[in-house]
This record gives sequence, structure tokens and C-alpha cells, in this order.
Amino acid sequence: MINFTVGPVQSSEAVRAIGGEHTPYFRTPEFSEMMLENEALMKEMAGAPEEARVVFITGSGTASMEAAVINSLSSEDKVLVVNGGGFGERFSQLCTMHGVPHEDIHLDPGKGVTEEMLREYDGKGFTAFLVNIHETSTGVLYDIGLISDFCKRNDLLLIVDAISSFLADPIDMTAYGIDVMITGSQKALAVPPGVSILVLGERALERIERIDSGCMYLDLQEALINGVRGQTPYTPAVTTLIQIHQRLLEIKGNGGRDAEVARISSLAQDFRDRISDYPVQLFAERPSNAVTSLRTEAGNAKEIFTVLKDEYEIWICPNGGEIGDYVFRVGHIGALTEEDNTALINAFADMRKRGIIG
Ligand SMILES: *Cc1c(COP(=O)(O)O)cnc(C)c1O
Repeated sequence: MINFTVGPVQSSEAVRAIGGEHTPYFRTPEFSEMMLENEALMKEMAGAPEEARVVFITGSGTASMEAAVINSLSSEDKVLVVNGGGFGERFSQLCTMHGVPHEDIHLDPGKGVTEEMLREYDGKGFTAFLVNIHETSTGVLYDIGLISDFCKRNDLLLIVDAISSFLADPIDMTAYGIDVMITGSQKALAVPPGVSILVLGERALERIERIDSGCMYLDLQEALINGVRGQTPYTPAVTTLIQIHQRLLEIKGNGGRDAEVARISSLAQDFRDRISDYPVQLFAERPSNAVTSLRTEAGNAKEIFTVLKDEYEIWICPNGGEIGDYVFRVGHIGALTEEDNTALINAFADMRKRGIIG
């Protein structure tokens, strides 16, 4: 199989080899040292300020989204949520569930946030902003520059779910004044699922110290105390954390974050150039490098997914909800190459010959 989904994605050989080894005991100085290195590497790649801290949560990305909401927000806040698809809706639900007052900016699927939209919320007493910078369900990359300016001029805490954008799109905590950046192991980090990561700036750390999360497993106060010595309060996904270490070192060795972003961007561009001959349209008005969302007027998106999987051994991502018949997504993250793009384009060519597309 070739995996063009948006996670879990394909891993490097070295990362896969670690998965075949015994899981070591972790209450050791060696594991602690590795975790402190993971923290330093994550800070470097997130462009985090010196005083930032990193928490590794054993749990998929949603666990860290929930941890961010319950540890850094409270009933005293007034939060603006960008709700442009499945993941924005998840942030909105988390706020509702945990009694955090919030208002949603609802967007049509495939559309981004504009300056005019944000202007309406200037000076309205908001205290925090929640955004999935790449709304992976539609493929739209929101304009972090616009959002950052809005948050700065209104003095809002900025929480960015960059789960599918970290290492795929240019994102930098210091440049954009991001207070909390969230990512996960199974997207561009290209490691099996099971770990999500929060990078926490000073303003977020102050809030965490003051706010009672009301939760044991996702309590960040406890995680931060243990993290000082490179440990976690509970048994973590040890093997996944070792794979993350391997992968962060690989990225650093290959030129660092910006080189990885450039590599994924070039794969995405190569695919978009070559798919432009086919009767499918780009769905997202401002696509992330991580994924290309495509619209098929024929309404057979699910059939395309199934035929590629069953007859060509290629995985792409189907879509859920109302747009599911018309939209499918091709990911560009993980261990993929231009030759893999060629295999996918050849499959499209064959499907066109067979009358499945176009
Ligand atoms: C993948 C993803 C998540 C996390 O989903 P999990 O299934 O919990 O890992 C959250 N937000 C975005 C934008 C994502 O792409």
C-alpha cells in the first residue's frame, strides 16, 4: 500500500525499526535525558521562546486539545472559536462541555477567515482565541498572520491546534505570538499514533498554574512538574516517544523544520500540478501543504476512495458529512516521494480510462 492519508502516515525505516524492539523501562536517567532532548527539539521546531515548556500527552491529538481547554481556559473567559469544519466544531464542543463561554465564527466548508470577519470581533471583550490552523477536514489553511494581528491588538491568548500543520506549513510561535501550540505524533511527525504534544508559552504557563483543570489524567500542572526531570506522571507511550526522538533528530539532520516544510510543500505542488489535467477541482481556497482536498462534480468521491484502496493499493482520505460525496483528500505528509505521486497519478489515469473519473 501507499498511504496518502492525513494520518497515520508512512514512517521512515529507522522509526519503523524502533517499533520492532522491546519497550524499555522508563523510570531511568536515560529515558529522562531523551525526554529533555525531545522537549528542546520540539521548542526549536515550534520556534518557541526560551521560557516555553513542552508536555507530551499519551493520547491522540484530541487529548491535547482537551488538555489545552481545561488547563488554560475557565468560566471567566470569553473565547472566539474558528469553526470551519469537523475540528473547529470539536473545539467548540470542548468549550461547551467544560463550561467555557465562547462564540463561534462559522465558515462555509473550504473557506478561510477574512480580515472583515475578524474586525467584527474587535473590542468585544474576548480573552482567548481557538483555531485549528489547518482545518484538516476541508484542507483550508487559515491565515495565521491575520489571526495573530487580531489577537495581538485585542490582547487574546492564542491557542493553535497545529496538529496537521506542524512541519508541513510555516508556523512559528515567536513570530506569531502563539501561546499554546498543539501537535500529534501521527501527522507530519510521521510516527505511529498515541502521543500528542503541547508547547506552552509564558502566558499559558501562568494560566495553567492558576486554573484547576478538574481532571487527573490531563492535568498539565502535574505533567509540568514531572517534566522538569524528563518524566511523566503516568506510564507514557514509551516506544512512540522514542520514535518521536528519532524522527526529530532525522528532521534536524536533514536541515531542520524549514527544510521539512519545503520538502512537503514541493510534494504538494508536484501533485497539484499533475492533477490539474483531471476533472477535479481544488476544494480549499487556501490549501495547506499537508493535504490537497479535491472536489469531483460526479459525486463519486467515496467510490474513488474504495477503488484506489481495493484495486490500486493506494489509500487516500474520504470525507465525512455533507461534502462526503463530492470531496476527497490526498495527503502529502509522512515518508512519501515524487515517485509515490507518480504511482497515484498513474492510478488516476487508469481510472479515467475505465470511466471512473471524468
Ligand atoms: C488529526 C487532527 C486532530 C486530532 O485528531 P486525533 O484523531 O485525536 O489524533 C485534531 N485537529 C486537527 C486539525 C487534526 O488534523
